[in-house]
Amino acid sequence: MSAAARLPSVDKVLGQPSVRALAAQYGASATTAAVRQQLDALRPAALAGALSAAQLTPEAIAPQVQALLAQRFAPRLTAVFNLTGTVLHTNLGRALLPEAAVQAVVQAMRAPANLEFDLATGGRGDRDDLVNELLCELTGAEAATVVNNNAAAVLLSLNALAARKEAIVSRGELVEIGGAFRIPDIMARAGAKLVEVGTTNRTHAKDYQEAITARTALLMKVHCSNYAVTGFTKSVPEGEVAGIAHARSLPLLVDLGSGTLVDLAQWGLPHEPTVRDVVAAGADIVTFSGDKLLGGPQAGLIVGRKDLIAKIKKNPLKRALRVGKLTLAALEPVLRLYLTPEHLPAQLTTLRLFTRAQAEMHAQAQALLPLLQAALGARWSVRSAPVFSQIGSGAMPIDQLPSWGLALAPADGKRPGRALAALEGALRSLPRPVIGRIASDALWLDLRCLEAADMAPFTAQLGALSSALQGPSR
Ligand SMILES: *Cc1c(COP(=O)(O)O)cnc(C)c1O
Repeated sequence: MSAAARLPSVDKVLGQPSVRALAAQYGASATTAAVRQQLDALRPAALAGALSAAQLTPEAIAPQVQALLAQRFAPRLTAVFNLTGTVLHTNLGRALLPEAAVQAVVQAMRAPANLEFDLATGGRGDRDDLVNELLCELTGAEAATVVNNNAAAVLLSLNALAARKEAIVSRGELVEIGGAFRIPDIMARAGAKLVEVGTTNRTHAKDYQEAITARTALLMKVHCSNYAVTGFTKSVPEGEVAGIAHARSLPLLVDLGSGTLVDLAQWGLPHEPTVRDVVAAGADIVTFSGDKLLGGPQAGLIVGRKDLIAKIKKNPLKRALRVGKLTLAALEPVLRLYLTPEHLPAQLTTLRLFTRAQAEMHAQAQALLPLLQAALGARWSVRSAPVFSQIGSGAMPIDQLPSWGLALAPADGKRPGRALAALEGALRSLPRPVIGRIASDALWLDLRCLEAADMAPFTAQLGALSSALQGPSR
């Protein structure tokens, strides 16, 4: 055999007209780096004589360099179709924001804004003032402040109000949310000593009363967002715990988790305690998320007694956990929507998704079924069926919303696991990835979060789905 075919030099590849065009688009250094990377990748096979001279020409290598650059410059955060059936899907970014919030964020990115500037006096302002009045009006609280998320709100509140002292919590409420948020861990990081009372299933008023000592800083209640204790259970309602705390001049802190601002039962959804209910019941501080049931941006909202909020705002952690202007820009119009609750189901995106009529999703399923069947071919069977969606993000874990979906399954029923994994991969590889859910030997596409405006972009990429299924993954 003659010597192994030789790799071209970096300069030779860079000299290719098509690669020069890449350099004009992506820049000289990124293009040179991509050429080097591709030549390095080819080197072992080239040295082993496994590549022909034709495979090692600059012309042959140029498209590979282009693919590398396209990959490197493609956004990592990209829009997907959430057909998982979980509306507030933490891994898919939770709440979708209403158009008013989208516009406000765009504006805040483009132009300077009065983030901490008092337009009335020309003096320095407080960023919390942008939403303080709205939050107080919507919750009945005296004061409010905003941080990065509810985990931060709990951490900050505990540190400000209970550092080096004791916080009393029921054993039935020591929740873990999504792995990284556990009440005992947050408590330790906040420098507060956790005093657990009661048992996993039952906690009584006297359990709280007997645990109070001179070292007690506060009593805390945590909303059981992502689980339900059923059977022989007892917990003490907020109002009663507030009474116990106040009798000893202690505050009650409530981590409400989702914290809705309106009673969702008026739209046929399960009842959740509102922030106003909990404030009225006597909670001195209530923390809740901005991007769960509230339907806004990721944020942690803290409302409550004026003196306690002032203490929380003076804590140095507040500066570390504060929100940026984009969050506040998004939050303000979302909160303002709540001033006109009649319009909420149409204007608040999350509520619109929660309250979609099942018949509407059924009609969508019927329309999509033949298109999906055609795209998938005879090896797959597609059927439409009623399904249950979930609100998600720990909100109302046991309540489900009647929805409609499409079930995709291998027509021959053989080795469904492998076929379904391949289909799932093909759906994920689409220009706008489609995320479904595998259950009972089928891949389910829950149509609750596919609104009318999404239908055209969804169907437009079904051709790409056919190719992806026949592609190299098979
Ligand atoms: C979701 C939740 C949290 C965490 O809120 P993030 O906004 O995700 O940080 C804390 N406590 C409860 C009870 C929750 O439901």
